Amino acid sequence: MNSLRPRPGKAIQQFSFVDALVAGLFDGAFAAAEVTEAGSFGVGCGDALDGELVLIDGSLFVCRADGVTTVAPDERIPFAEVARFEPTFTRSLEGPLTESQFEHLVDSLVPSHNLFYAVRLDGVFESVTVREAVRQQHPFRGLADAVKDQHESTLGVTEGTLLGFKGPDVFQGLSVADYHLHYLASDRATGGHSMDFVLRSGTLSIETYAAFTVRLPETESYLAAELDDINADEAIRQAESQ
Ligand SMILES: [Zn+2]
Repeated sequence: MNSLRPRPGKAIQQFSFVDALVAGLFDGAFAAAEVTEAGSFGVGCGDALDGELVLIDGSLFVCRADGVTTVAPDERIPFAEVARFEPTFTRSLEGPLTESQFEHLVDSLVPSHNLFYAVRLDGVFESVTVREAVRQQHPFRGLADAVKDQHESTLGVTEGTLLGFKGPDVFQGLSVADYHLHYLASDRATGGHSMDFVLRSGTLSIETYAAFTVRLPETESYLAAELDDINADEAIRQAESQ
């Protein structure tokens, strides 16, 4: 325990890629059952950008502004990043710890910024600010415009789990550079894409991956899309960290 060396045969599995979302390809391309077969842990977004996905201990939830529901196996998903999470590193953390302090801490623990990490933080939080994207209508706008509709709220003292990934900067556009974390409360009543938080105390767990695989969508909209003119970096930074 407490090694952060990647293990052979372990890989991140991603469904679609972030530049496709930037281009407005929000049509669900994969069945939820395919996503949950590929991993037990992860993040994603709902069909037509309707909510934020949390895959935790094999159960898939979608967080929307009006609450959290489970995702049926035949529901369609436009984007997800998942792994079979078997942490090799755990550590107890005492707060207060803000999101940026937490990220600096994890940065100081990992052996390299050029690998992928699944990161999970179970704990009690003073606050968690979450956003949930809202369902978009055809014709879809790009991600940078679509997230202007997002719902944002700050949860008071809450117990739950932050989970997601830290990815290498050079994968920006295929995946998300640096941290991408979603929150789900223990009572499964609230959650979303994490914008900021303050940890009171909790347990950090991490697994490292030296492999990354991507399934491409086969939707008509993807097959016909022109993807050579996407200003992804700016749009992703805007969407993920505003
Ligand atoms: Zn997200």
